Amino acid sequence: MATLPVLGEPRIVIVGAGISGLAAAASLVSNGFRNVTVLEAMDRPGGRIHTTKPFGTNVIELGANWIHGQEGNPIYQLAMEHGLLAEEGTSITMCVPSSITRQDYFFNQSGTQLPPEQVEQVCCYFSKLMSKAFDQELDVKYDLRSLGSYLDEEFKASDLASSEDARKVFEWCKRSECTDEACSSLYEFSAGQLWLYTALEGGFFNSVGSGGYQALLDVFLKSLSPGVLLCNKPVKCIQWGLSETSSSFQGACPVRVLCEDGQQLEADHVIVTASLGYLQDNSSTMFKPVLPEEKMRAIERLGFGVVSKIFLEFEKRFWPQDCAGIQLVWEEGPEDRKVYKSSLGDEGWKDKWYKKICGFDMVARHPNVLCGWITGREAEHMEGLQEKTVGEVCVRLLRSFTGWEVPDPLRVLMSQWRQNPYVRGAYTYIPLGVDAMREQEALAEPLPLESCDSISKPLQVLFAGEATHVQFYTTTHGAYLTGVREAQRIIQHYSDRLPSPNGERAS
Ligand SMILES: Cc1cc2nc3c(=O)[nH]c(=O)nc-3n(C[C@H](O)[C@H](O)[C@H](O)COP(=O)(O)OP(=O)(O)OC[C@H]3O[C@@H](n4cnc5c(N)ncnc54)[C@H](O)[C@@H]3O)c2cc1C
Repeated sequence: MATLPVLGEPRIVIVGAGISGLAAAASLVSNGFRNVTVLEAMDRPGGRIHTTKPFGTNVIELGANWIHGQEGNPIYQLAMEHGLLAEEGTSITMCVPSSITRQDYFFNQSGTQLPPEQVEQVCCYFSKLMSKAFDQELDVKYDLRSLGSYLDEEFKASDLASSEDARKVFEWCKRSECTDEACSSLYEFSAGQLWLYTALEGGFFNSVGSGGYQALLDVFLKSLSPGVLLCNKPVKCIQWGLSETSSSFQGACPVRVLCEDGQQLEADHVIVTASLGYLQDNSSTMFKPVLPEEKMRAIERLGFGVVSKIFLEFEKRFWPQDCAGIQLVWEEGPEDRKVYKSSLGDEGWKDKWYKKICGFDMVARHPNVLCGWITGREAEHMEGLQEKTVGEVCVRLLRSFTGWEVPDPLRVLMSQWRQNPYVRGAYTYIPLGVDAMREQEALAEPLPLESCDSISKPLQVLFAGEATHVQFYTTTHGAYLTGVREAQRIIQHYSDRLPSPNGERAS
């Protein structure tokens, strides 16, 4: 068992105040650790949880929106305990693994609404194929194949294959799945690794109440004393493995954290919660010495995708009362294999970026607002365009697909997760050919690695964040659990030395 540093309590720095960083801080504080500092680069905590009020008094979520699953979901549990769930339950009535309901209107390119029964038949078939992949029931031949090719082969062999309309709706399902998975294309996404992700029971789309996800963050924030969280504090470099002589501060801390503004903090333990996207861009300069090879490999090999939302606010609702979403079915959409293949090595897709938009959904508590979803390289491209241009394109699509009188929007708002220098995308996906468990475990391993010859000071740099959870990556509950996991490593390390929160030493 490790001993406490001579001059006092362990100094712990947490890099990032997303839900994983806040969960780590709250766990440490509630276990009696008093020297905890959270450094956040942005001017607000929350990271990829960003609740805003751009259209009046009701909230809009630019990032996370739903709680995925109920049973065994600590975020659902927390929301329930604090009365933060939406009153209306989940609204998913169709059997497709997406937020689609029977009240969604599907339109084809020629402006005709598709019969809901026909759409449902294809969506249900698609859902069955996806369940097989999630439940690890795929034929071994798909182990090393893409999700796109698995879906195509199964569809080709099905009774639906003879129907042109079914083919087009199937393409829409693939596009929608691509958005859920945050990848550029399902042809670049591994079919054989999907089963590692665990979908919790109790509905995939549980809504948070009127306070939005921010209300959940507030639960953690309230548990931290003033001064623990420092915003506008980007960390530039983490020097680890410092020997006693190289440390200029008293107490011989093994880690030094250098901030962009020149401040230096010495620490016994640093928990890094920056997103995989941030690490992909910065890990080679952020750590001194550089990260071990297996960690760099994991950062490089795992995928970090882009998902963007486009909010359109209108003066008044122009869609029917019973319409829950307007979905766009192309003759040949970007998830059509032929279209995908011909787009490789060609920049032509940039002119047709809007074809990646799945459709426009209603937004809770905003009767006049629609939310469009787009993913992958097209989303990245869109983030570089003016909001006005994006709004015009969306209105053109809505007019031509529905044939309705669609007014110009009052306001357009895009999320820009890829452009955010401290996030660089939406969430993790597993590219074709990548061994997810191996890479995620390598990413999560603390430094110095256990295989290191001499570890005089273990747990110098620990890694949390959504990307480091093998079963629940991509989600807020996954991120939360990784923060708690890394806090627990430290708590365990000092378990018989620290005072408990009531001042007594734990036995
Ligand atoms: C559009 C979108 C929709 C989503 N929808 C859902 C959903 O419905 N349900 C769901 O469960 N999940 C959803 N997610 C995913 C969910 O938001 C994330 O999995 C989760 O919030 C990640 O939390 P985190 O703490 O791991 O990372 P982050 O939230 O990214 O936190 C990391 C923090 O580190 C900070 N940071 C980075 N670099 C530095 C540095 N050098 N110095 C200091 N600070 C730094 C960042 O600013 C950030 O605040 C969605 C995400 C997006 C983008």
